[in-house]
Amino acid sequence: MTLPIYLDHQATTPVDVRVLEAMLPYFCEVFGNAASRNHSFGWRAREAVSRARDQLAELIGASSCEIVFTSGATESNNLAIRGAVEASGRASGRVITCATEHKAVLDPCLRLRRLGFDVVVLPVDSDGLLDPQRVADALTDDTVLVSVMYANNEIGVLQPIAQIGAIVRETRALFHVDAAQAVGKIGVDVERDAIDLLSLSAHKFYGPKGAGALYVSRRGRRAEIAAQMDGGGHERGLRSGTLNVPGIVGLGAACDICREEMEVEGQRLARLRDRLKDKLFAALDGLQVNGSLDRRLPNNLSVSFAGVDGESLLMGLDELAVSSGSACTSESPEPSHVLRALGVPEKLAHASLRFGLGRQNTEEEVDYAADKVAAVVTRLRRLSA
Ligand SMILES: *Cc1c(COP(=O)(O)O)cnc(C)c1O
Repeated sequence: MTLPIYLDHQATTPVDVRVLEAMLPYFCEVFGNAASRNHSFGWRAREAVSRARDQLAELIGASSCEIVFTSGATESNNLAIRGAVEASGRASGRVITCATEHKAVLDPCLRLRRLGFDVVVLPVDSDGLLDPQRVADALTDDTVLVSVMYANNEIGVLQPIAQIGAIVRETRALFHVDAAQAVGKIGVDVERDAIDLLSLSAHKFYGPKGAGALYVSRRGRRAEIAAQMDGGGHERGLRSGTLNVPGIVGLGAACDICREEMEVEGQRLARLRDRLKDKLFAALDGLQVNGSLDRRLPNNLSVSFAGVDGESLLMGLDELAVSSGSACTSESPEPSHVLRALGVPEKLAHASLRFGLGRQNTEEEVDYAADKVAAVVTRLRRLSA
């Protein structure tokens, strides 16, 4: 076992070596521009992109013609949200989202609010779940878009996407889902879930950083979106810019591995996660799991530790790569907006840890982490008593 132990797979994952191997030929040998139509360098790059499109489509139940490659989920979210609103041709109207969304959804929505749209941010319950009835109640005739995430990046909670999708499908509004944490971890099916637009990112499922995609429904209901990047007309005009061929090949290879392995891997990670939770709860009291335990990603655990200072807790855990319940985007750390939305008090939010288990983690590492956390929390509590 080597230290520090990486337990932050909701932030990013390492590239799987099989993914790297698939990518390598596309740097120096098959380096063509996928848009070059006049020679084999271009054709081979185009073929590789086309294969990756098929691999991704298969993983999420889409058709290859519905995939738009982007640089990641932030770009996909912006393209979906701004693009859908722009394509609607409306200068006002309602956009519905949820309080626990990633900033890459909330901030584009807040920009729309400044432009005059009626942006409704729905609350969640203390388990982090959005009640589909709230979506039904918020929908109006002039609702352009509903954006709800599949799985939360801090607390791993799975929203009732299929139920919300069925409700939105009854209206003219489009349904966008940020599935950056769900794709490759649990079964995602855009048809079953009645999703019109879906964002994903390769680096969250053992692919490379800087490669992602937006699913844009074309069969059945056609989702109209306006491009947010103009230029050479790549990706059916929806996202101009020379394609990141090695990254896209890696995304496709990562999809294939997840399709094959995610079920067994999910079971293993859920066992490890439960082991971590049980060990922590056996060693300490005053703990609280944040978010629903049964409607949750298999690899996520978020825990609050009463009676300790968040900063001291993280400092004591330098052997573990974990995330805290503070967002350090500014100088003074802000408590996580996700934990606050669940009603977790500010102090407790700071004293929270997110454990994100992954493909490489072992039982030995989980046991070490649990012992370490228990020891540090016990010491800090003793010091402050
Ligand atoms: C990581 C993440 C993003 C951002 O994805 P990038 O590809 O890093 O831009 C957006 N939403 C969620 C839920 C995420 O977990």
